[in-house]
Amino acid sequence: MSYDDHNIFAKILRGEIPSQTVKETEHTLAFKDIAPQAPHHVLVIPKGAYVTADDFAANASEAEIVDFWRTFGDIVAELGVAADGYRIISNAGRDGLQEVPHYHLHILAGRSMGPMLL
Ligand code: C5P
Repeated sequence: MSYDDHNIFAKILRGEIPSQTVKETEHTLAFKDIAPQAPHHVLVIPKGAYVTADDFAANASEAEIVDFWRTFGDIVAELGVAADGYRIISNAGRDGLQEVPHYHLHILAGRSMGPMLL
């Protein structure tokens, strides 16, 4: 799938749509999900134009990948949820019911997540 520059996260990255920033680094932005599914619901996205997790894994630079996952780890530490636990999800494509075609990781925490499969 080719990258759609008009997707809503591209607009957030360009500052055209507001978001509540949790953390920003050179290659990564994290912000609060607008419709939280848990007491903590943070989206982590690369600043680069990647559609899915596999696109990011195949095509991002090592610097982008390291920055992304270090930022994820920093957020988990700052939320203070490592001891009680959390869930990370990344929906991809049609079967994954991905709504926004810019790679993102959901961090969900603050309650028991229940069974994994719907
Ligand atoms: O993984 P998926 O693509 O389905 O999730 C997209 C997520 O982006 C949703 O959880 C939605 O609430 C969130 N969103 C957001 N801010 C927007 C538009 C969507 O946080 N402006």
